[in-house]
Amino acid sequence: MIKRIIFATGNAGKIREIKEIMGDMNIPIISMKEAGIVSDIEENGTTYEENATIKAKAVAALAEEGDLVMADDSGLEIDYLNKEPGIYSARYLGEDTSYRIKNRNLIDRLSGVPDEKRTARFVCAIAAVLPDGKVLTTRGVIEGRIGYEEAGQGGFGYDPIFYVPELGKTTAELTEEEKNDVSHRGRALRAMKEELKGIENA
Ligand code: IMP
Repeated sequence: MIKRIIFATGNAGKIREIKEIMGDMNIPIISMKEAGIVSDIEENGTTYEENATIKAKAVAALAEEGDLVMADDSGLEIDYLNKEPGIYSARYLGEDTSYRIKNRNLIDRLSGVPDEKRTARFVCAIAAVLPDGKVLTTRGVIEGRIGYEEAGQGGFGYDPIFYVPELGKTTAELTEEEKNDVSHRGRALRAMKEELKGIENA
């Protein structure tokens, strides 16, 4: 029996998103902070799945019986740059460097590169440590292209340079709801919800 779902993040936006997607599962969803857990974990894995699992396990070690702990890890992969910044997306050019500068730098590195070679994707892995210690992971992806200029005020991070041709917009030009519908994190969370359905009913 799953008593609570704890999401291992300090990011209020992520908690909002998971509540929106998993809120109808009839299991309370709380943040790490609400669970009274403090954990600063080094993400030293080599894949999104590994990093998400490292975070979820570290928090699960401090959780109560019956808690399911979920964590995510995500990043931007640019094909022309051999999938950089990838799992190092948050740390690209230094953790404290603004996204204005990070985004400008990526646009500059793609200077002169034509549309068809500007392909990129946001990737998100979700890991869940179940009350019995079993680990599940899911992955969600959204495909797009790196734009020529920043566009849009919404979202965060690399959103202003991530253009989705089907939508004719960057992910920074979408409302939060529109973005959740198509985003890597939304997709990974919905896939995890499907996985958990089997467990709930077991
Ligand atoms: P983490 O998964 O929270 O460790 O963050 C990964 C990093 O990838 C973020 O700090 C952003 O730089 C980038 N990233 C992940 N998802 C998104 C997104 O939806 N929009 C823009 N940037 C993102």
